[in-house]
Amino acid sequence: LLDGGALVTSHEWGYASGQLAGREPIAFQRARVMGGCSAHNGCVVAVGCPEDYDRWAALTGDGRWSSVSVRPALTRALERMRVRTYGEDEVGPFHGACLAAAAFLGVPRADDLDDLDGGVGFGTESVNIEAGVRFNASFAYVDPARDGDNLTILDRAICDRLRQTDTGVEVTVQRDGEEVRIEAGRIVLAAGAYGTPAILERSGVGDPALLRSAGIEPLVDLPGVGRNLHDHPLAEVEFAGSARLRSLLSESAAVRFTPEEQTLGKLRSSRASGPYDLHVFPVAANEHSLLAGRVALAVAAMEPLSRGSLHVTGPDPEAAPRIDHGYLTDDGGADLAVIEEGIEWARELAAAEPLRELIGREITPSLDRRVSAYHAHYFHPVGTCAMGDMAAALAVCDGEGRVFGLDGVYVADCSLMPVVPRANTNLPAVLVGEVIADALLA
Ligand SMILES: Cc1cc2nc3c(=O)[nH]c(=O)nc-3n(C[C@H](O)[C@H](O)[C@H](O)COP(=O)(O)OP(=O)(O)OC[C@H]3O[C@@H](n4cnc5c(N)ncnc54)[C@H](O)[C@@H]3O)c2cc1C
Repeated sequence: LLDGGALVTSHEWGYASGQLAGREPIAFQRARVMGGCSAHNGCVVAVGCPEDYDRWAALTGDGRWSSVSVRPALTRALERMRVRTYGEDEVGPFHGACLAAAAFLGVPRADDLDDLDGGVGFGTESVNIEAGVRFNASFAYVDPARDGDNLTILDRAICDRLRQTDTGVEVTVQRDGEEVRIEAGRIVLAAGAYGTPAILERSGVGDPALLRSAGIEPLVDLPGVGRNLHDHPLAEVEFAGSARLRSLLSESAAVRFTPEEQTLGKLRSSRASGPYDLHVFPVAANEHSLLAGRVALAVAAMEPLSRGSLHVTGPDPEAAPRIDHGYLTDDGGADLAVIEEGIEWARELAAAEPLRELIGREITPSLDRRVSAYHAHYFHPVGTCAMGDMAAALAVCDGEGRVFGLDGVYVADCSLMPVVPRANTNLPAVLVGEVIADALLA
């Protein structure tokens, strides 16, 4: 888990889509470890653009989420996560060729993924990697508090459900086959976009009809729980690589840190509503990575319109929820059209000098099939306990993260985001934590 240079395959909840028509099931990776997915992710740091946060402020009617208000919390989050941007001298041979190819195509150089005001461009990534080590959220936020007398960590525990009491909230946790009960005046759920709605549903909070069909007694009618699930759909254009690329990569890896991802392009499709709506990022992975040795240009639609849902199938906290992301199902097919524009650009990049010789021929396995038959995702699920105006049909929480209809229950993770930002979601998740912590301490 410590090597920040590649994606990890261990510490998994093991979620997946189940059978899908005309294609393989889609795996939905989630880390089961302290620090959550920040402990096994790609360490790419992006923050999105001002429009992303201004939209959250408009949807909640809460000015704390505006792009102006979130800036101090964003600065703290970037500092705590030790974010930095790769310098020119750190760029490996494959990503150096990608930078040169993007320049050849006339795309502006922009090493500004961690800048809210950044725009279209191709450049080096910002990362939370220090001396090759993935600097996860637990290192950043739990370790400094470990020696205090106000922190107790219950490891190997699974949060089952919660119950409102006269004085606050009682949480039931399963640990080594035993039930542990914890009482508190207020609690904060941070089990992620799949885990947090599942805990609420097991507690009888959600759509009453769905809860009854799962054998759970409905207590709070909140139909938005588990709905509005979305993520950035992604498709890879795969390449064979070349003998020259393999030898350059192994020479580089022998003498210095050579991560599989180091560069990224923010691009604008014909359907973009803001500064950009596409990420295109090259990957040259090793065999042991989750990406299994692929050489690829990955294309992700960053303003997705498609929505899905996640619901528990019963009261057992170990049972996987039913996850239907609804990728590429938006009326009008905008998400697919944006990806197809990105794929076209990725092929131009691959054909540009000096990348052409290095990357080899295209071997996308499903070249002759539609993107819907082979697309993946960017690992960025959000929105399943969305904050919003109380009158909004699917809002679950207010702008302070407080769950409607309960006292003292808050949410602080990606499930709270009403709309996914045009960014990889780790740093935005940390930002959500910072903003909700401010609200709770005020
Ligand atoms: C393979 C992969 C690569 C990624 N790469 C990047 C990247 O490069 N850059 C980026 O910005 N983002 C990336 N992401 C996304 C990013 O890591 C997530 O958006 C972010 O970690 C979400 O934070 P969270 O707090 O909402 O939830 P999570 O990170 O999912 O954390 C939730 C935590 O709660 C725990 N939990 C869940 N249910 C329960 C329960 N019932 N009881 C007890 N504990 C529970 C989980 O085990 C986990 O520790 C990646 C994600 C994955 C999976």
